[in-house]
Amino acid sequence: FEKLRLSSSVSASASSSSTSIDYKKRIKMSIRQQRESLPIFKFREEIIKAVTDNPVLIVIAETGSGKTTQIPQFLIEAGFILRGKIACTQPRRFAAMSVATRVADEYGCIIGQEVGYKIRFEDCSNPNTIIKYMTDGILLRECLSDANLDSYSVIILDEAHERTMHTDVLFGLLKEAVKRRPKLRLVISSATLDYAKFSQFFDNAKVLQIPGSMFPVETFYYTYQVTTDYLNAALNTVLNIHMREPDGDILLFLTGQEEIERACETLEEYIEKNRSRFNLDLIILPMFSALPPDMQSDVLLPAPKKCRKVIIATNIAEASVTIDGIKFVVDCGFAKQKINDPKTGMDMLTIIPISQASANQRLGRAGRTAPGKCYRLYSEKAYNEELLPETIPEIQRANLSQVVLHLKAIGVKNILEFDFMDPPHKDNILTSLRQLFLLGALDRNGDVTDLGRKMTELPVEPNLAKMLLVSVGLKCTDEIITIIAMLSAGNVFYRPRKKQTLADEKKKSFEHAVGDHLRALNVYKKWEINHYSSEWCKTNYLNEKKLLEAQDVRENLLTIMDKYKYEIYSAGFNYERVQMAICSGFFQNIARRPAISGRNNKVYKTIDEQECFIHPSSSLFHQLPSWIVYNNLTETTKKFLNENTVINPLWLQQLVPDMYRVTDFNPNADLDDFLHDLIF
Ligand code: ADP
Ligand code: MG
Repeated sequence: FEKLRLSSSVSASASSSSTSIDYKKRIKMSIRQQRESLPIFKFREEIIKAVTDNPVLIVIAETGSGKTTQIPQFLIEAGFILRGKIACTQPRRFAAMSVATRVADEYGCIIGQEVGYKIRFEDCSNPNTIIKYMTDGILLRECLSDANLDSYSVIILDEAHERTMHTDVLFGLLKEAVKRRPKLRLVISSATLDYAKFSQFFDNAKVLQIPGSMFPVETFYYTYQVTTDYLNAALNTVLNIHMREPDGDILLFLTGQEEIERACETLEEYIEKNRSRFNLDLIILPMFSALPPDMQSDVLLPAPKKCRKVIIATNIAEASVTIDGIKFVVDCGFAKQKINDPKTGMDMLTIIPISQASANQRLGRAGRTAPGKCYRLYSEKAYNEELLPETIPEIQRANLSQVVLHLKAIGVKNILEFDFMDPPHKDNILTSLRQLFLLGALDRNGDVTDLGRKMTELPVEPNLAKMLLVSVGLKCTDEIITIIAMLSAGNVFYRPRKKQTLADEKKKSFEHAVGDHLRALNVYKKWEINHYSSEWCKTNYLNEKKLLEAQDVRENLLTIMDKYKYEIYSAGFNYERVQMAICSGFFQNIARRPAISGRNNKVYKTIDEQECFIHPSSSLFHQLPSWIVYNNLTETTKKFLNENTVINPLWLQQLVPDMYRVTDFNPNADLDDFLHDLIF
């Protein structure tokens, strides 16, 4: 390993304070003592009074101060429960679950009783729940059936600086709800946000700033050119720290689940081979939103004696989950973000540089319990000149269809006039309206149709909801539910480094000529036939946890479909029906391989003319059919189409006559010719 070249250290802005208590000491304290040692505890009365006196309150306190876990408990203890439950939203499922579990412990109840959580596909709360953590998407959904949120006395919109699309919409909706229901209280909380702007948006809301207790963090910048190939540099840095530094846990920020899993494997292998070179054992822990709950708690547990933890996380660890004991942060400088093309309404997951605000938030993770060090894998110049000061709100970069449909269903007539803190681009709103019209969710006047209303009842995005509803008519709902469940569980194939060939062979055995959706269905069905056996998963190199997650989602969707009295039929071996149902929801994700094969005949073109390739992990990678529908497009070294299924283009005219009108259809024609008859 080459010695890491880092420019001379730059001291970070940070203040130390004597109020902080060594975290190892904290672990030994009773729960009550732990609660009382948090910085926010001294402000208990002030917070209660501020919430009592102000319709909207903005609370700013560093990560780990106790905002998320303590504020709801303070309010319950102060008697707010007499007026209704307390809701606290989190942008991420992981945070909602982990925080609720902690608070249930503090409160002394079983999770799901007085303290519970609700996330998509999982409701761990009951009618007696008084502190309910939930994702912001769930609260938005609750607004659909109850615009005034009558059962709640206080709504806490936590992690407001993340500016997720759902939180941004809730800002606008709750600003009105507070005016309609004078007793409702709204708390906006975050570790870092532009409070002047927030206060102004909420009609000069009161701001409460709670001083933190951060230790100094020394910052190191990488002197090489910033590249997207940061993985090696990141792992080298981690190993260097592990070799040279006496103790303290490491937090490495990467961008996504697959990258994190790859990093964990590489690191594990290296450590295994070179154990003798290190004084401490290294416990390697992944952390991302889709991580199964039982693995999540490992991240938060302190490392045993003579061990060091390295947590490899997405930006989930930036603010929403507090991990004590981190002394070293390694920041790759990138994050995965959804970027939307306003012309087509398509979302693309792209890895882009983080903002300065994010970088500083990441740095701060190293100074919570002791002085720390932060290694930035980019230059100081890049930090100053290339990173944006703030992250662009999701509402200005992601597909708005679901949000627009929800707002329409709530009764917001003119989305363009909705009170957004930072309005989305007009084009983007118009594209979503058009997409919803094509899906049949809105009529020509922009009002919600029956189908649209049915779509809002299902806890999935509009395209998936359409696919599900169409499957009822096509009598293939059983298959479509499994496919949606598998899509939501993510990649189930497991590929250990030393057994790649074998794993690939097993994976091949699930392949289906029609594509990846049916491959996923195949995996699930075979697992079912094998009595959901763990052993079977192992021998087939399948990730059992993900399959179990898919099983959960499937059961949840079946319950919902049953509630609305939809009949569940299976298509048997008539896969065409399944293909058609997929096509009906994802008709905008069509790609065509141009008939005239030039030098690069693996190129596909999407309907907005992007040149893409079938991802090597797809079962259609070698087959290269002329027409496919894809689930998503990602951009790494090239633009890749993921989760693809073969389609017959003639279905399009039948399924989406408003978009595709085929006159003189020539199946060998280029996509452009085929689409030139677009109505819009
Ligand atoms: P904030 O929301 O201000 O970032 P939290 O309320 O999440 O802070 O956390 C306060 C403290 O509670 C943290 O310092 C941490 O020690 C403890 N804590 C939070 N979640 C957990 C958990 N799941 N397990 C153990 N301790 C936790
Ligand atoms: Mg928090």
